[in-house]
This record gives sequence, C-alpha cells and structure tokens, in this order.
Amino acid sequence: MAEKRDYYEVLGVEKTASAEEIKKAYRKKAIQYHPDKNPGDKEAEEKFKEAAEAYEVLSDPQKRQRYDQFGHAGMGGAGGFSGGGMSMEDIFTHFGDIFEGAGFDLGDLLGGGRGRNRGPRVQRGSDMRVKVHLTLEEIAKGCEKKIKVRKLVQCKDCNGTGSKDGSTDTCPTCKGSGRVIRQQRGIFGMMQVQTDCDTCGGEGRIIKNKCPKCGGQGVIRDEEIITITIPAGVAGGMQLTVPGKGNAAPHGGVNGDLLVLIEEEEHKDFIRQESDLVYNLLLDMPTAVLGGQVQIPTLTGDVKITITPGTQPGKVLRMRGKGLPRIDQYGRNYGVGDLLINVGVYIPERLNKDEKKLIEQLQDSPNIAPGAADKKGFFQNLFGC
Ligand SMILES: [Zn+2]
Ligand SMILES: [Zn+2]
Repeated sequence: MAEKRDYYEVLGVEKTASAEEIKKAYRKKAIQYHPDKNPGDKEAEEKFKEAAEAYEVLSDPQKRQRYDQFGHAGMGGAGGFSGGGMSMEDIFTHFGDIFEGAGFDLGDLLGGGRGRNRGPRVQRGSDMRVKVHLTLEEIAKGCEKKIKVRKLVQCKDCNGTGSKDGSTDTCPTCKGSGRVIRQQRGIFGMMQVQTDCDTCGGEGRIIKNKCPKCGGQGVIRDEEIITITIPAGVAGGMQLTVPGKGNAAPHGGVNGDLLVLIEEEEHKDFIRQESDLVYNLLLDMPTAVLGGQVQIPTLTGDVKITITPGTQPGKVLRMRGKGLPRIDQYGRNYGVGDLLINVGVYIPERLNKDEKKLIEQLQDSPNIAPGAADKKGFFQNLFGC
C-alpha cells in the first residue's frame, strides 16, 4: 500500500486553512466519494475513509496541532497499527451531520453500509476491547495468547434465532422489509423518510415463541477462550483487530470484532527504542583500560563481547540484528533492529589501603592524565619519531 498521504493534501486545503475551510473541503470530498454515489467502488471507499481520517484529525484543534508538529508519527499508538482506520460505521456515526442537505437519506447513512431499500437490517454485534501484556521476549518472537473473555455468544438452544421452535413470522408492521416510511418536516416541507421498523427493530421478522434460555435475543452472556496470534515486533499502544471475535449479534447477525490493545512489560535489562534495544553496560576500570571480554544479555541468551583496550565511557557498541523485528503499520516485517550497548565505567567508591596506594602511584604516571595520548601525538609530530 502507498505511503500515508498528508492530511492537508487529502482534503486539498492549505496548512493555514481555517476550521470552516477544512469542514467545507471535507464535505466536498465526502459527498464526492460517498458509497451511495460509488456503489461497489473500492477505491472510492478508500478515498472516503482517507478523507474522514484526515478530517478527524484536522477538525480537532489538539490533534491538528500534534499533527502539524509530528506528522503521522504523532498520531496515536506506534504508527497506528490498524492503519488509523475508521470503519464506515464510525464515519457515519461521527460525521453523519456533514451530509445534511446533500440529498442523502440520513436514516440510511446511520445504518452503516446498509443502503436505501436494501432490505431488512442485519444486526452487528458490538466490538470488544481487551488488553494483553507482553514481555520483550514474546514481542521478539511473536506469540499466541489465550484469553478468557466474557461476552455475548450465540444461544445454542435456539441456534441464535431466539425462537423456541426455530420459526419466525413476518413482521406485520413492515411486512418483512424492516423499513417504514414516515412523514417528516424538512427544509422543503414535508418529506418522506425511511427508518427502521420499531416493531421488529428493522429485522423484518418477529418471534412469537421465544426461546426461554435467551429470552428471544438469540444471544447469551458467556465465557469464551480466544487465542490471539500476536505478530513479532508489536509495540505498546498498538491495537490488533481479531475479526468476528467480539460480541455476537442478536438473531444470527454478524459478530463484532475483538480489539486487542498491546501493553508492553518493562524488561529488567533492556530499554526499547522502537525496534532497537538499549543495554547499559558498566565496565570495571581495569577492563575499560586493558580490554577484555564481558558477558552481556540478549533476548536470545547471553553472549560474550570483546572490549578493546582504552574503551571510553559513553561509547555505544552496536550489535546488528539483536533488537526486535521491525514492522510497518500493516504488520508486515521489514528487518530487525539492533542492540545498542551503552558503555559506562565504574569508578570505585571505597578502596582499601593497598588499592588506594596503587591508584596513587598511577596518578603521577605519564599516561594517566586526560590528553596524554594527544600530547604524545604532538611530540611525535614535532620530532618526527
Ligand atoms: Zn435461545
Ligand atoms: Zn417490522
């Protein structure tokens, strides 16, 4: 998929555009790419969503300021794993009013993708949110997590129909269409508006003989164990979507989604910097001076590294590929980060007599004072030896 476009570019406005200009520009785009005008056109749908996403940010002064300062990187989570995506339903719920007077039937719009005269309503279960805590080791490899959630599931007694004997009747009010026509006063006088039928909730069918277990709902509250596959490289704040694992919908509708918010546990050795890991290594003075081998942890076990003689505190050693997998906002992998080793040198705080003597002897030694190496170089240059 292409790189995320600049939000101002998406709406076709200047960076200095006023709130009113932004709203106008969004309305224009939203009407142009409206699904009712472009049925079945995936590209129009993407454009429609892209515009809504841009408007969502630019219409909110705080979000706009953050976007101006940090760009897409400043917007939510670590890159917005789900693509910052808003569902069509979200868009109509939040921005439905933008279409007022645009010739669309609002009753239709608020039903999500379900358009005019498209028959009875299919219910959708609500989304559920859960958090999972992950260690860096789990993030490095990816993992499966089993979690127990309490949610609406299909009633087994009636197979989700809500009916004791499995039968339903055509709704007498709407004659099965799920829609009724109402008179409503609008700007141009009385208008005919289609809305959901109250008797059947828009489903077109009613249940006479209700299932005693679920009371005719077709769903009951129960526990379910769900296995979530976590890809390697995720970060705290990202949200994964497990389609169809949210709440079940009444009467055999479509399940909602399970939204999984990633939380990252602190690690005892490493600090995470995106896909790199940082490890603070404290050397003893003789090893820093003389060089040697030290053992350091990695996510895949301890390794020995070589310290060169004269290693200065503040030096950063890089172990390529010992970090975390890099993933883009669509969860695709592209390489692995590094392990950065911040070298420090421990200066002893308490010495015994002998140690103190040794250090004192060193103090007057020619190579101990800062700049000794430079001075040597200076004389070497001067005398050519
Ligand atoms: Zn039932
Ligand atoms: Zn009805």
